[in-house]
Amino acid sequence: MVRSTHSPSVLTDHRFWNDLKPLKRLAILGSTGSIGQSTLSIVEQFPERYSVATLAAGRNLDEACAQAVRWRPKMVSLATEELAAQLTSRLRQAGVSGVEVVHGVEGTVACATHSEADFVVSAIVGVAGLEATHAAILAGKPVGLANKECMVAAGEILTAAARRHNVPILPIDSEHNAVHQCMRVGAYSEVKTIWLTASGGPFRQTPLDRFPGITPEQALKHPTWVMGRRITIDSATMLNKGLEIIEACRLFDVPPAKVRVTVHPQSTVHSLVEYVDGSILAQISVTDMRLPILYALAYPERPASTLTFDLAALRHLDFEEPDFKRFPCLRLAYEAAEKGGAHCIALNASDEVAVEAFLDRRIPFTGIPDTIEKVLASTPEAHPATIAEVLAADRQARERAAQLVS
Ligand code: MG
Repeated sequence: MVRSTHSPSVLTDHRFWNDLKPLKRLAILGSTGSIGQSTLSIVEQFPERYSVATLAAGRNLDEACAQAVRWRPKMVSLATEELAAQLTSRLRQAGVSGVEVVHGVEGTVACATHSEADFVVSAIVGVAGLEATHAAILAGKPVGLANKECMVAAGEILTAAARRHNVPILPIDSEHNAVHQCMRVGAYSEVKTIWLTASGGPFRQTPLDRFPGITPEQALKHPTWVMGRRITIDSATMLNKGLEIIEACRLFDVPPAKVRVTVHPQSTVHSLVEYVDGSILAQISVTDMRLPILYALAYPERPASTLTFDLAALRHLDFEEPDFKRFPCLRLAYEAAEKGGAHCIALNASDEVAVEAFLDRRIPFTGIPDTIEKVLASTPEAHPATIAEVLAADRQARERAAQLVS
């Protein structure tokens, strides 16, 4: 048994991994999204290690059907009863039997807690994946977490449940995955600063007076990662990094003052951990989400993969202080992180509404932080203790944000 000198964090304790079966059967929540598809490509590459137990697929019927035919899971969940009925009839036509088709939040929860699932990949975007992730932890399933909104909105509840049930949560978000790797080599008490790297987005050098005129097309061009629309806008405002500050506080059980952001335009160093003796450890790899997914699935092992990084092609690494004037979302995130609870929920919820409004050209780019700031200012200090309370606080913040952008 490996003795953990870390905090009682479920993340860093190896004990729970000793009795794992050689073949892990996966529940993939968000199977048709980009993390879900990358996870399936890992399963494809490592058939001796991983198989598919259940898939929660959302609204993409064609892709869900193709995945069900290819992987023959025990259960597939879709967003609505109607979509589920369509999948059932398609599978019947294709001669596929033995796949139970379910739907809605209950369906996602059923996938997450299925008796034949050994490990849950939580990759549903937004708070939609919250209940299922919580249910997976309560059912004692180890979780690979790609959904940062879960940690931001309900991190206090999820980590408390994980500690209570001795369930590991392995981060798939690339920065936190890098931090997790760097934290394996030192003791928790020796960690001075967690440095999250940020690309700085497309507007790192744009003059401030041009910010109000930034269009959705400009903001949707991310320099290094190809991602979904909301996360791409969140990278341009750096709110994404703000959410990741909160995510790091929860996952690694550190106060906001111990988490800092460094702008690193090459996105080669995925994050760093500075120790009290002055050593800084960095994790470098290709910008490919399959690597953090594989790490989370295989932890504490490191299977050989083809995801190599060409060190000789690396010319330079730049690191800069982030500009809080240019990126007020960073300041707002630190303020929310200090208050915790309802403020973190409101940060995430109001941003989602504001980003949607920006993409619809109802508010300017600078309206995103303005909206968040107003919603945070009107949010009472509260610490929701249940997932239902989290979801209620989330709805209230969305309503306030929707009034502001209309
Ligand atoms: Mg990230």
